[in-house]
Formats: sequence, structure tokens, C-alpha cells
Amino acid sequence: MQVERMLWRMQKVTQIRELRQIIRAQRRLGKSIALVPTMGYLHRGHLSLVEHAKGDGVFIVMSLFVNPLQFGVKEDFSKYPRDLERDAEMAEKAGVDLLFHPDVAEMYPQPVLSYIDIDELAGVLCGTSRPGHFRGVCTVVGKLFNIVQADKVYFGQKDYQQYLIIKRMAEDLNFAVEVIAAPIIREDDGLAMSSRNVYLSPVHRKEAVVLNRSLEKAELDIGNGQRNARMIGKMIKEQITQESSGQIDYVEVRNAEDLTELEEIKGKVLIALAVRFGTTRLIDNKVVEVKENV
Ligand code: AMP
Repeated sequence: MQVERMLWRMQKVTQIRELRQIIRAQRRLGKSIALVPTMGYLHRGHLSLVEHAKGDGVFIVMSLFVNPLQFGVKEDFSKYPRDLERDAEMAEKAGVDLLFHPDVAEMYPQPVLSYIDIDELAGVLCGTSRPGHFRGVCTVVGKLFNIVQADKVYFGQKDYQQYLIIKRMAEDLNFAVEVIAAPIIREDDGLAMSSRNVYLSPVHRKEAVVLNRSLEKAELDIGNGQRNARMIGKMIKEQITQESSGQIDYVEVRNAEDLTELEEIKGKVLIALAVRFGTTRLIDNKVVEVKENV
């Protein structure tokens, strides 16, 4: 096993043409194709998606592309952490078969005139504070779907709204791909893993644990019978404000299937938040299922 691992080599590809040839060859060998889209600066959250993708006869493609289209003009596109060498090593160790890391000119050789836009789902939560973000995400993911032609694609629930949007986009536009969500991977102290965590100062890093703590408290309160969505939101906001210097972007409780607002907590509920620590904006969420009212 050890020797096999050492002999086995992940392919690294930057050109769409070459990627398509390799995928065609893998298909001829009877392989199914799994896609794990990322922006790189990998951590265990990304690698968990690779674990989910593994299976007999599966050829795993990880894309690594910091997509300029999904960053606002004042956002951190140029400062987004990048380390291709480290990422390639981690991806290979995790079992990725092919790392697709095109540059911007390969993905966008001419000014983009065609976009994928999604209504409603993209107009709430992160869509409110990041206008145009989900249009950028949908456009690049749509392109990746066409380029890779994967059977299955894996997204983290860390970006729950993104997962829901992509799933709906695939349904609406008949992309022949199954969209699969995988659970949030956290640090030992509960902070959701994120490439952006490296930006946090030591003080903010410590304070940021309040995000998961407040979500856990919310789950506990719901378990104890709290059914008022507004009260849950209020409790989370108070806890974040009292226990940290984080600036709240939003804390919301919504229907987890369609992101509509809720007054009463029932069914599958998404508790989602975005909070700024200094210049770093962190998101986290929890999905709670309430089977019946108590
Ligand atoms: P990113 O590189 O941040 O665009 O993330 C690429 C994929 O990894 C997305 O589907 C994310 O939802 C997923 N991901 C990021 N962080 C985590 C995490 N902590 N746990 C699980 N999945 C994650």
C-alpha cells in the first residue's frame, strides 16, 4: 500500500483542452468522474470533500481557481491566500487524481458577456452583502460543469447557501451532475475551517470561537422547545456582541430548503451568520431539523 502510494502520481493540468482529453480517456476506461471545486489554500475541510468523493472506479478531479468574477471590487481577490505547491502536495496525498489549476486567461480568454444568474436564493444572506457574488459563483461553476462533465460534484455545507444555489442551478439548467453536500469540518475549538482563517489576528482567532458556540447554544435552545426564530437570532447576536469584538453582518434563521424567512421554527431550519473580525469576514451555519412541535 505504502509503495503503491509512492508510485502513484496526481496529474496537474492548466489547459482545458488537455483536461478534456484526459477525462475522455478515463471515461473510455469506464471510470466515473467526481469534481471537487475549490479556490485552493487547502485545509481539512476541502480534503473531506475528496474523502466523500472516493469510491471504486471514481476519477477525482479537484479544481483550484480563485475566481475573480465572484469577488466584489473592494473584496480580497488579490490578497486571497495562494500556495499551489503546498496545495498540490496535500491534494495528491488526499487521493486526488487530477488537479486542474487554470489561470484567469484560460478560464476567461475574452471579456465575459454571458453569465448564470439565479433569482431569490441569491438575493438573501451573503447575496445581500456581496452583490454579484453568486452570479460569479454560478458562472464559474457552470463553466466547470461543462469543462469537466462530472457525474458528481461535492460542496461543503460550510457555504450552505452556495450549495443550495448550485443544486438549484443544476436542476433548472439540466446539468447532468449530482450535487452532493458534505458536513462542515471544524478546528478542535469549533471554529469552522476556512482559508480565510489565516488572516485572523491571534485575538480575533480566539474570539471567533463564539460563532460556533452561539450556533450550538441556538440548537440547544431549539432542542429545549424554543420555536421563535426572532428570539434565536436575538440570542445569537447578543452572545456574539458580548463575547467578541466581531461586527455582525447578518444572523438569520430561515427555511433550509428555500431560504425563505421564518417566524416559527419548524421543519428543516438554517441558522446562518456572517461576522467580521477586523477585515476578515467569517461565515458559519447550522441546519437543525425540528420533527414535531413540543
Ligand atoms: P473554497 O475554497 O473556500 O471555495 O471552498 C471549496 C469547497 O470546500 C466549498 O464547497 C466549501 O463549502 C468547502 N469547504 C470550505 N471549508 C469547509 C469546511 N470547513 N468544511 C467542509 N467544507 C468546506
